[in-house]
Amino acid sequence: MSARPRAFSKFREVQSELEQSGAAIFRDGEGVESLIVRSPYAINYIHSYAEDSPFFLGLADGRLRGSKCRRPKCGFVYGTPRGHCMVCGAPTDWIDLPTKGRVHSWTTCHFGSEAFLKETPYNLALVEFAGVGSLLLVRLRDCVESDIYVGMPIEARFEPNPKYSITDVWFVPAR
Ligand SMILES: [Zn+2]
Repeated sequence: MSARPRAFSKFREVQSELEQSGAAIFRDGEGVESLIVRSPYAINYIHSYAEDSPFFLGLADGRLRGSKCRRPKCGFVYGTPRGHCMVCGAPTDWIDLPTKGRVHSWTTCHFGSEAFLKETPYNLALVEFAGVGSLLLVRLRDCVESDIYVGMPIEARFEPNPKYSITDVWFVPAR
């Protein structure tokens, strides 16, 4: 029996093999082989969301929160947390965003960070909301790449067991 790890050409297969045996060979499109090993480690990453905290607390309550410039003559509305207006520099106030929007643009990811590897390929969409001047980048689920188009109506879904992370929200095609 050979001690050589099994070889795969799809990273998803490599990932599966790593979970079983801890080692695999990834063979790329040009035939180059890379030995990949799994070395688990754990850290506690303690950090503060500071001024952005209401955004993540809102996700846990099934609310999408954006920011609106406090200066009446400006009033720019952001689809993300923003402490100060990038147009005029004034402070912002929190607002509730619609939970329905449209696809402004999207990409399909065939690789991702560890949190998303099991979902690959997955879709990321820039969401535009009516009356909002900037976009929100989130995952678009329950559809495949060929289903997606610019202007597609989509709606938010929220993680029932929140992790206080941007992964607590994703969008799906509107029903
Ligand atoms: Zn402003």
